[in-house]
Order: sequence, then C-alpha cells, then structure tokens
Amino acid sequence: MGMSRKKKRKTDSALPADSSIGTPADVPAKIRVDICIAGGGAAGMAAAVAAAERLRDGRSGNGRLEGSGFGRDRSVGAGSGNSKPCRGNNGTSRPGSGQPPRILIVEKMDRLGRKLKATGNGRCNLTNINAEGCREVQAFFGHLGVVTRVEDGGRVYPYSGDAADVVGALIDRIALLDVQVLTNTEVRNVQYTDPAAGHSRAKVNFQLRCVCGTQDVTIEADQLLIAMGGKAAPQFGTCGDGTKMARSLGLEVTRLAPALTGIETVEDVESMAGVRVWANTALYYNKKKIAEEAGEVQFNDYGISGICVMNLSSRIELADGASVQDGFRDYRIELDLLPELEGAADAAEAAGLIRHQMETQGVREVTSQALRSILRKPLAEAVAEASGGDPEQAGRLLKRYPLHVKNLRGWKYAQVTKGGVKLEELDPQRMEAKRVPGLYLAGEVLDYDGPCGGWNLQNAWVTGIRAGQAMAERLIEDQAMASQTIARNSGETEANSGRAEVISGGTEIR
Ligand SMILES: Cc1cc2nc3c(=O)[nH]c(=O)nc-3n(C[C@H](O)[C@H](O)[C@H](O)COP(=O)(O)OP(=O)(O)OC[C@H]3O[C@@H](n4cnc5c(N)ncnc54)[C@H](O)[C@@H]3O)c2cc1C
Repeated sequence: MGMSRKKKRKTDSALPADSSIGTPADVPAKIRVDICIAGGGAAGMAAAVAAAERLRDGRSGNGRLEGSGFGRDRSVGAGSGNSKPCRGNNGTSRPGSGQPPRILIVEKMDRLGRKLKATGNGRCNLTNINAEGCREVQAFFGHLGVVTRVEDGGRVYPYSGDAADVVGALIDRIALLDVQVLTNTEVRNVQYTDPAAGHSRAKVNFQLRCVCGTQDVTIEADQLLIAMGGKAAPQFGTCGDGTKMARSLGLEVTRLAPALTGIETVEDVESMAGVRVWANTALYYNKKKIAEEAGEVQFNDYGISGICVMNLSSRIELADGASVQDGFRDYRIELDLLPELEGAADAAEAAGLIRHQMETQGVREVTSQALRSILRKPLAEAVAEASGGDPEQAGRLLKRYPLHVKNLRGWKYAQVTKGGVKLEELDPQRMEAKRVPGLYLAGEVLDYDGPCGGWNLQNAWVTGIRAGQAMAERLIEDQAMASQTIARNSGETEANSGRAEVISGGTEIR
C-alpha cells in the first residue's frame, strides 16, 4: 500500500482525503494533529468517539463521564433515546488556526478492533451490570445504536450475539465524525517536550516515530492517548508496547503477567482431555485457601481451563526472583466434583453414595463402573485408580480432587494482562498522567485486570471515554485561550493603529 521511498514525499501535511479509515495510498512523512490516539482497540475507539462528539458539540464541561451526553440515556440495553445524527467535526476549530480539530487513531494491525471482534467467543461480553459505571457504558452503546441483552451473572452482550456489530458501530461512528485512522502503522517510540520548559499547551508536545508499512512517518500531536493494550493475546497486535512507551515517558509500571488463562497441571490429565465437569474450584497457596469459584471445568491435554479456572489463574503469581520451572509449586487446586453434597460429613456421604453404587453392581472395589453416572468415564477411571479401590478414599477424592499448578498458559492464551501503568500515576477522572500533562492512558495498558464477565472491556470503555472527553475539553480550553489572545492582539493592533493615526494626524496638523 505504501509508496516507494524514492518518490518525493509530502511533509507536514494532513492525511489525504482517502484516509478516513484505513491506510491511505500516500502517507505524508510528517503528520500534525491535535489529538493522537495510539492503539485502535476498545479503549482507543471509545476515546475517539467521545473526543470527536464533545468537540462536535463544541461545549466545555467538567470532562467527566457522568456529565456527558452519553450519560443522559440511562435505559438498560436499549439502543433508543439519545442518538443524534452525526456531522463532521465542526463544533470547534484548531486553536488559532481556524481549521477543524484533527483526531488521528494510529493502529498497528490492518483493521480497528481486531481483538474486540474475538471477545466473548465472538459474542463480545461488553460490560457487566454489576460493574461501576456500567450504566454510562450501556448508554454510550445505546447512543451508537447497539441493542444489548443481559445474561447470567449480569453479562451484557449485543442482542445479535455478534461482536462484529459492536466493532461496526464504533467504526461507523468514527467515520461519521471524521476521525482519521492510519492502520498498518506501528508506533515505535515517542518523545515528549515538557510545556513547562517554555512551550504552551497548544504547541506540539509529542512526537511519535512510526512505521507505516515500510515508510517512516512522524506524527506530531498536542495531546496523546496511549491505548495500546497490554501483552495478552499478541496475535491481536498487543505486545506490551504501551507499557514500554509509558515507562519511557517516566511513568511507573508494575510487573506484567498473563491472567485469565488456562492452568498447566503437574498431574498428567491428557487421558481426560475434552471432559467438562461442573465443580466448585478452590485455589490454595501454601495450604491456605486464597480463592474459590464455581463453574464448568474443562480438562485439556495440558491441564484445565474454563471461566472459573481462568478467574483462579489471575490469583497465581510468580514470587519475585522465582523461576517458571518451580515458582508455582506452592499453588494447589482442589475440585469438588459433587458440590451438591455440603457440610462436614460430605466426604463420608460421597463414600456412602459410592458404596451404594458398588452394592447395586455387585462389585467389591471402586472401579470406573462403580462411578458410572456420577462422573464421565475418563474422569471416573482417574478417580478409581487414585482411590486404590477404597470407597472412603474415592469419597474424599470426589470432594477434593487435587491438582498442582505447573505453570500458567502463556501470553498467547491469556485474555488479559495483570500489571501495567500504576493507577496512582493518573488523574482518575481525566486519565491524564499527573507527571506528563497532555499524556493520557486508557484500557489494558493500566494496572487493572478484572475477572471474566465483561469487566475488562468495561474498564477499556470507561477509561477511554474519560480520556477522550478530557482531551476534547483541553482542546476547547486551548481554543478559547487562543481566541482571547487573538482578540487581545487585534485590540492592541487597533489601539496601535489608532495611535499611528493620531501621530500621522499630528503630522498633518503640523
Ligand atoms: C480472546 C479474548 C476474549 C476476550 N473476551 C472478553 C470479553 O468477552 N469481555 C471482556 O470484558 N473482556 C474480554 N477480553 C479482554 C478485552 O478484550 C481487553 O481487556 C480489551 O480489549 C482491552 O482494550 P484496550 O483497548 O486496552 O486494548 P486492545 O483492545 O488490546 O487494543 C489495543 C490496540 O493497540 C494496538 N497496538 C498495540 N501496539 C501498538 C503500536 N506499537 N502501534 C500501534 N498500535 C498498537 C493493537 O493492535 C490493538 O488494536 C478478551 C480478550 C481476549 C484475548
């Protein structure tokens, strides 16, 4: 797509007209924008819509999600009510330039929202009704025309059950709002010029060195949002670039680790691969229970997975300095395979059930046959073998089937990143870095990881919307300041020209 290096390239220019979404055929070597959003995932797209709509409306507020136009529609799940037809950015102009403000999303992949499209098994569990700020997020999507439904555990999905509809709604609105998008463009590094060192906020504060296909592109921006995600699922473009860049700008980042992922077990469970069982799961660290969760456990050739297992994985950490080889040995998982039997005598009750089965079948030892209709055959065989044929031991195993943690499945299989930019670094309402004015961070790049159920996307939307609104507010303020300066200067010019008239008049009089 990119032009040859030999061809003379434009400099310091706007993107060509074909650049509203995608990679334009002719990318200038230098692009100057007001707001640059690095990363076109969930947080970046939400930020772009929020910023462009606030600028379109051209009014200044408090920069908070609560006070936004989105917040007015509080209906749950409906795409009704608050939607307004979109125009291009015409509510305000670039400070001092008379041109409409320019917002640019820079995305490394060939399309926006690649990961978003894969979320929730392609259904996109976009938020959870129990999450703080969920109403605002639902209103935001209602405003975009996304109709939703609420399922078990408060999980919110698009009514169609198709994640592509969520991505499509965001991309359509981004195009309508004239936000520019550069895909296939990787941000390689960023430089910051401190406004306190003599540069005003309206001047360029950030310079991003990017590669678009094979071309080098420099992007200059007054404000920058880092929305480049974490390190989980790098096949969707996320390799930890955002945290590296934040660190290079002086922000503190906590250690990154894969979370919401499968667990590799010391025990060989390959013979059970494919078995799914409803269980209460408990995670122990040094014999102390640190988490428990009910749900469906799936056995695989490497260990176990399933939503409840992924949630437990977020609680498993390598101690400082520990190696992956033996760093997890103090973690143990127990599966209660008969969760309906509760109470102190539960293992004994389970043993009673097994003895009854043995009597009805006329067998003297626990075999997989004796566990028939209680467990699926491969699991029954494993329990029978581990019990040594003893019904009491088999009862204990049914209630506390032990598995030891060997490792967590790696980044490729993780849904989210544990660790990231420390939240203390940010103003939580604006998502602006306290130490780097004009720099904003949103989404998974932050030190936040929630459980399965819509919490991670909720975090991406809320922080993205807050950052987008705050950047627009800043631009509106800058514009107001620039207009005042122009008015003052033209007043001074008029006054000066008046003085000149008097002088010349004086000359005439003379
Ligand atoms: C398979 C899977 C299923 C999931 N399902 C759910 C779910 O149903 N519900 C839920 O709440 N959460 C889910 N998650 C987690 C959720 O998708 C993420 O937490 C969320 O997408 C984070 O949003 P983000 O915008 O911060 O990052 P991302 O959505 O990851 O977007 C970051 C973007 O930045 C781009 N980028 C990175 N580096 C650069 C660079 N150097 N230059 C330019 N661009 C760059 C990436 O290509 C990417 O497009 C799932 C995750 C996975 C992997």
